[in-house]
Amino acid sequence: MSLTEKILSQVPGDALGGLRKVDRLWENLKQNTAPAPQAVKHSQQPLETLDFDIVISGGTLGILIGTALAVRGWRVALLERGILRGREQEWNISRKELDAFLELNLLTAAEIDKAIATEYNPARISFTNTPDIWVRDVLNIGIYPVYLLETLKQKFIQAGGKLFENTPFKTATIHPNGVLVESENTENNLFATRLLLDAMGHFSPIVRQARQGKKPDAVCLVVGSCAQGYPNNETGDIFASFTPMQNQCQYFWEAFPARDGRTTYLFTYIDADTERFSLETLFEEYLRLLPEYQNVELEQLKFQRALYGFFPCYRQSPLKMPWNRILPVGDSSGSQSPLSFGGFGAMVRHLKRLTFGIDEALTSESLDKNSLALLQPYQPNLSVTWLFQRSMSAAMNQKIDPNQINQLLATVFQVMEELGEPVLKPFLQDIVLFPALSKTLFKTAISHPGLVLKIIPQVGIANLLDWMIHYVNLGIYTGLQPLGKAVEPQVKNLGVEQQYYFHRLVEAWEYGAGGDY
Ligand SMILES: Cc1cc2nc3c(=O)[nH]c(=O)nc-3n(C[C@H](O)[C@H](O)[C@H](O)COP(=O)(O)OP(=O)(O)OC[C@H]3O[C@@H](n4cnc5c(N)ncnc54)[C@H](O)[C@@H]3O)c2cc1C
Repeated sequence: MSLTEKILSQVPGDALGGLRKVDRLWENLKQNTAPAPQAVKHSQQPLETLDFDIVISGGTLGILIGTALAVRGWRVALLERGILRGREQEWNISRKELDAFLELNLLTAAEIDKAIATEYNPARISFTNTPDIWVRDVLNIGIYPVYLLETLKQKFIQAGGKLFENTPFKTATIHPNGVLVESENTENNLFATRLLLDAMGHFSPIVRQARQGKKPDAVCLVVGSCAQGYPNNETGDIFASFTPMQNQCQYFWEAFPARDGRTTYLFTYIDADTERFSLETLFEEYLRLLPEYQNVELEQLKFQRALYGFFPCYRQSPLKMPWNRILPVGDSSGSQSPLSFGGFGAMVRHLKRLTFGIDEALTSESLDKNSLALLQPYQPNLSVTWLFQRSMSAAMNQKIDPNQINQLLATVFQVMEELGEPVLKPFLQDIVLFPALSKTLFKTAISHPGLVLKIIPQVGIANLLDWMIHYVNLGIYTGLQPLGKAVEPQVKNLGVEQQYYFHRLVEAWEYGAGGDY
């Protein structure tokens, strides 16, 4: 019996079965033999009646945007394949980001406080042989998804939103004036809407069709657990590494106090090569190394739940839908950083922008594919992170010094710490700012030229050149950002359609430069 089988048999529920189910998805992704679904079709006939302004398929993050739009008076239907309920495991986020819920009238301050299950400080960045770096108030809030989603569900219904549970999405037919969404539920199976939001996550059938079966450019694999019995520790790790590369990848760790124990994660960035190991193998590695990482014996621990998942990342992100009237939101949109698995945080950060943008798109009838693509714009501050992900991974047959990734990261983080909080903190929250990045690169190149040269063959010249384009764009977007604010007063005199385009342009500069930080 493997360690994984032994430990997961102690966890309530069918944890091993769940892990193996997700592993089959991972195996399918690596093999990439499944045909792309045909979920979206076309019809030239106009729809006679439109029952909804917006249909959202997928409830987990869909309820966030659904409630925001229902509160603004739009006719919203939310389709969820099962029962809409948040997971037990907290979502980590930084406090300031939660203001979006207040500003959009989704939660009161008291409800936000209630949704916060844990709050810890400080958090550590740790590599062997270099001093630890400590930061405060970064991703240190644990939101309890069960409470958050239940509260939003009630608000959604109060605001007139229509919730259809046990209603799996089947197909969407795009008509000239709307979309007819068909579900597999025999009772409620047709929904005529002006706009369809795809919130079905990374494995949405719509997204798989739009990506035409393309394999992801990279994948982040994550396994972990929440367990009791650790020595008391009120601090967390945002990013820790204590082993050289093994199994042709670098292991990274996270740990923090949770509502009912301590959460620990092991994650790694890899490609989707068919030879890559399974999630179950990574879980075995996690259990092998956990005692060393947390200075604890496995026998001391009482496991509350097992955690696992994988996140496909595509260079071509955010995803531009090839169809009118369909917009991806949440994980399906690919608008989160390829470095983190903070899709909830990414959605919250963009919630105001998306709410106002969708509102304006509906008002100005800007629902064709090009207009909607502006709601998930190119963001150079995200695209530059591709190279960072590349520098933390190795191709299946690539030979690199097993300590190289740790050395690089330890050096870069030390440099960022020396440059101060305004450089380090946004980076840790998935926001890359041009001045901070430029200072870090310059200082690292001057003080550690050998290290930088070693990285070039690892990441490849083509990737480096591609990265430079995004870096230059980040500089341009940073320069353009104040321009948007300066012209804003003139825009009020324009028609609704021009206003829609102008606002999207300004937002693209702002968010693309990390100006929302
Ligand atoms: C181990 C782990 C830890 C994480 N920790 C964090 C964290 O600390 N902070 C953070 O910000 N993020 C975290 N995340 C990421 C976060 O959980 C995801 O970004 C978030 O769940 C994405 O939500 P989503 O609704 O876009 O997609 P999903 O979570 O995939 O949800 C998709 C929704 O659509 C529904 N659905 C799917 N198919 C259909 C269909 N055919 N018809 C109708 N409905 C359908 C599903 O039932 C589900 O409700 C973590 C993820 C994992 C796996």
